[in-house]
Amino acid sequence: MMTRAAPPALAAFTNEPYTDFSKPEVWAAAQAALARVRSEFGREHELWIAGVPQRTGDLLTSLNPSRPSEVVGRHHKANAELAAGAIEDAHSYFPEWARTPAEHRAELALRAAALIRERKFEFDAWLVSEAGKTWPEAEADVSEAIDFCEYYARQALHFASPDPLVQLPGEHDQLVYLPLGAGVILPPWNFPLAILTGMTMAALVAGNTVVIKPSSETPVIAAKFAEVLHAAGFPPRSFALSTGSGSVIGDLLVEHPKTRFVSFTGSRDVGLRINELAAKPRRGQVWIKRVVAEMGGKDAIVVDREADLESAVLGVVQSAFGYQGQKCSACSRAIVDDPVYDAFLEKLATRVKALTVGPAEELANALGPVISAGARKTILSYIEIGRGEGRLIAGGGPAPGDGYFLEPTVFAGVDSRARIFQEEIFGPVLAVSRARDFGHALELANDTEYGLTGAVYTRNPEKIRLAREQFFAGNLYINRKCTGAMVGAHPFGGFNMSGTDSKAGGPDYLLQFLQAKSIAERL
Ligand code: NAP
Repeated sequence: MMTRAAPPALAAFTNEPYTDFSKPEVWAAAQAALARVRSEFGREHELWIAGVPQRTGDLLTSLNPSRPSEVVGRHHKANAELAAGAIEDAHSYFPEWARTPAEHRAELALRAAALIRERKFEFDAWLVSEAGKTWPEAEADVSEAIDFCEYYARQALHFASPDPLVQLPGEHDQLVYLPLGAGVILPPWNFPLAILTGMTMAALVAGNTVVIKPSSETPVIAAKFAEVLHAAGFPPRSFALSTGSGSVIGDLLVEHPKTRFVSFTGSRDVGLRINELAAKPRRGQVWIKRVVAEMGGKDAIVVDREADLESAVLGVVQSAFGYQGQKCSACSRAIVDDPVYDAFLEKLATRVKALTVGPAEELANALGPVISAGARKTILSYIEIGRGEGRLIAGGGPAPGDGYFLEPTVFAGVDSRARIFQEEIFGPVLAVSRARDFGHALELANDTEYGLTGAVYTRNPEKIRLAREQFFAGNLYINRKCTGAMVGAHPFGGFNMSGTDSKAGGPDYLLQFLQAKSIAERL
């Protein structure tokens, strides 16, 4: 049970500042960290299950997407028996962890934040090497991980001393928040530290135990995060690191009767499957499993005739091609008002053609590689589809080099029925569509089964009012890009097939991992 104690005086939450890599001393420190990280390439990493390290000899190999001949790390994979053991142990340790005072759990989360902060360049370098993030993108990811620890520590203290209830005469009336139990954490690879940290820390600091099944694309970053949890003092059995293929051990973890909740961030199809499997009660199960599922997007930016066109073009380029378009919040549709359509396209093509693509560790490159050979193949197949659905105005194929490089690609004149307008591609491919007027632009923006992020560029206050009212997206931005949500300021989560709208980094997020108990005592 979360104890009711006055929260210790913590400074108000503020976002972690980003490091400026253009400063020579910063760049030198980053290079030194990269050299240290590279010296660890190829190392074996163990599982962590039931409070002890485990090795199976069945290894998952993680490659550097900028240079796939380089093995970043090898990770022992859990088999079915170990994965089941992880959940069973997390379940049996849960009551002890749940009894720890919220203040103590919050303190551990703050220590984790401090440790990641101390090792920031090192984590940046792992993200550059294993996820193919450019330095500024890696820095934003690592900073967000720190933010999640700091923010959820404060939220845990908040829910430990909730607002008083109405007091009936002759009664003491109280609401207390309890953790749920043992949960499974299934994060994606595209924010391999931030989302992994946010999902794990929220559940842990609220008093749950967790089994982390990291993405198979970024297992080394997850192993490094597990080091932080250990060093911060989280008890050895409060978390398990059960690396392995989602398609092999995923169902087992989701279906296990001792699994109390599943926290998933990833693609629509996997999320829907998890939701379905988790809904069916299994023998010995005495609860309805809670599923938090944050899924894909097909995010649009509307550019109105009354927009500042230069800033709209910049916002679209940053949102569409930051981290190679591999953000759930990425702009994959630009919907442009007829009178400014041609001018917008011209400015857009010029900017996109100037973007450089190459190894993520080179600061001059705006885009690094996509995550894997498989992802590159899927994206190239969408580019082929796009050739039949629109007019290619930039990019259109692989970019030179040994890595999984792709040119930033733009198709114009795309109809709303086109597959590249409707389906999540998750790569550097942008569809541009022409709208008759602002109302039509909003209609096109909403013509999707997703509803994650969106943006509108206009100077007209009435159109801004309409967008606020009618643009159906969990995260709406006005006159700015649609990526780059900040913890505390932009609680994050989407509508419809984008998921359960849990609003990560927001004041209510911890409620996903808590249940409330009302207690009335006759005096
Ligand atoms: P994914 O393929 O759905 O995988 C997500 C996680 O689920 C991975 O850890 C994966 O493990 C695991 N998994 C796969 N199959 C499973 C199964 N049958 N049972 C249990 N777990 C399973 O997604 P991704 O490619 O990593 O990430 C990209 C997607 O995430 C995009 O659609 C993007 O829009 C979405 N995303 C959404 C948000 C948001 O907040 N809404 C944020 C970031 C990303 P393996 O790696 O071993 O397969």
